[in-house]
Amino acid sequence: MNAQAHTPRIIVVDDSEDDFLLIERHIKKTWPLGTVAHARDEASLVESLENIEADLVICDYSMPVLTHDKAIELVEAHRPDTPLILLSGLANDAMGIQAMHAGVRDYVEKSKPDRLIPAIQREISTLQLKREKALLEHAHRRAVYFDAVSGFLNREGLIKALAGLMDKDTDATDLCLVTINLARSQVRASEIDPRVRRNMFEKIVGRVRDTFPKDMLCRWADNLLVVVTNGFEWDRQHGLNCEHLSTMEAALNRPFLVENFPVRPNLRLGIAQPKRDGLHAAELVTHAQSVANVLERQDLELFHALDLSIHEQAQRRKRIELGLAKGIESGELSLDFQPVEDLKTGEVCGLEALVRWTHPQLGLIMPAEFIDVAEDSGLIEALGDWVIQTAAQSVLALHAQGHMLRCSVNCSPGQLLNPEFAVKACQTIRALGLDPKWIEFEVTESAAIDDMKRTVETLNHLRAQGCQVAMDDFGTGYASLNYLRHLPVDVLKIDKSFVSELQSDVSSQMIVKAVIDLAHALGLMVHAEGIETAEQRIRLLAMGCERLQGYWFSRPLSPPALINWLNSKTKKPLP
Ligand code: C2E
Ligand code: CA
Ligand code: CA
Repeated sequence: MNAQAHTPRIIVVDDSEDDFLLIERHIKKTWPLGTVAHARDEASLVESLENIEADLVICDYSMPVLTHDKAIELVEAHRPDTPLILLSGLANDAMGIQAMHAGVRDYVEKSKPDRLIPAIQREISTLQLKREKALLEHAHRRAVYFDAVSGFLNREGLIKALAGLMDKDTDATDLCLVTINLARSQVRASEIDPRVRRNMFEKIVGRVRDTFPKDMLCRWADNLLVVVTNGFEWDRQHGLNCEHLSTMEAALNRPFLVENFPVRPNLRLGIAQPKRDGLHAAELVTHAQSVANVLERQDLELFHALDLSIHEQAQRRKRIELGLAKGIESGELSLDFQPVEDLKTGEVCGLEALVRWTHPQLGLIMPAEFIDVAEDSGLIEALGDWVIQTAAQSVLALHAQGHMLRCSVNCSPGQLLNPEFAVKACQTIRALGLDPKWIEFEVTESAAIDDMKRTVETLNHLRAQGCQVAMDDFGTGYASLNYLRHLPVDVLKIDKSFVSELQSDVSSQMIVKAVIDLAHALGLMVHAEGIETAEQRIRLLAMGCERLQGYWFSRPLSPPALINWLNSKTKKPLP
């Protein structure tokens, strides 16, 4: 910035009124709009320094009421970056050099007022440059450490700030890290309209700011906010902490209006304790998220995160998250196959492939524990590819032994939404020498909720290649009938939650009957899951259900057990 264009704010420290007026007139000739304040003594200098954002202080060398050394000290204390020029009636070079050692920027003799203006100009230019540099550095720091949308710290910012906090407070016993994101179901539902989603996010950011006005706030990822609060006493009575966390959770989850519709946010919160759950921000965020996942799956409130068992489950989940990529790569996955009964013949008509993971330390892990980890971490595609490939190989092996069965594989929304999924899956199957008609794909309505058009395209492609498509877990979603009308599927799998109530609950019987009739009217085959008793089987048979799967017919079996089961079945057909 040009020093001439800037209107400077200058404090003149001088005990003589006449000298001050002279200096003021001189300055005003160059900067008519500039501010020139007069400080006569220590008190008025302090007052001026506090009230005026001064660009420069000009100070008389010899004053009876205030020594120039004291004036330098006061400027240094109140406005450390403000330059100071000494003005003297009896200056000599030795005196000037000594003053410059003491921090003065320049000295000017009163008898040579013409030297004063260039000195002021130079000092103001230097100051302006310094200020601009500081502003740039500030903007740079903001861009590096802050999120532009929320104004919160970003990932880098939190890592740095938290490390600073932990260094300062070596015990860090009262620190608590809270992660906040929308529950899965709500992320999906709000994806229907990106504007609603953005709007919701802005509201949540505002609410987090209101709920934690004094705490460290961060936008860790697109939909993940993090709060580090340091008034949390982990040793305090459990009851008081529970109350505190419940109030906080309730405040965050109050309903709000989005485009004039009341929306109840379903925020998923997790907490981690620095020093116990990790030392680094990334470790703490992962742990808090694992806690959030455990709570969400068990539908528990946040204060349960204080229970040791939740903490242990979260540790387990973290190990699952950390080990999954290696597990997929190094052959720790396997498939079990659950036979499906054709109700007309009582014979096996197909299989469902169900993935298992034998963890080197944790042992056998069921899919319910790791499929959503795979979905969240983006590993679901690699896992899904492995399942399709292995299922196709197993079908070929069964065919070679004379068991001409079709096998179904489960597909997650993350897989179906990949535009190349269908082409790649069919290529994999064909490359092994198997006709794709022997593979059935099980999908749930969640993929359609995310992107109906793409899901329909994918399913059409699979069907065009001869594959069957089944809608899985029918009845557990919230818009099933609607999706059923639009999705190109061949089979409807009725969820086991309906089947389990068939014996006791008349309304369940009516619903299942209505669903079966509706599916038939739409030209679909009906497949019931989770049949555990002969009575359930008889009822479903009477209702016109075509296929049946459940422990009653067979539990999921490892490949060798399946071969034995199939061989014994062919020898002794069902009565
Ligand atoms: P799903 O697709 O509904 O699979 C049926 C689940 O019900 C299986 O659990 C099966 O063992 C169990 N089951 C079968 N018959 C009965 C019965 O009579 N009673 C009861 N109570 N349960 C029965 P599993 O193997 O633990 O799989 C759980 C879920 O994990 C599956 O539910 C499926 O959604 C998912 N999953 C399994 N394998 C894969 C996979 O390869 N990819 C994907 N994306 N998901 C998979
Ligand atoms: Ca299934
Ligand atoms: Ca199912």
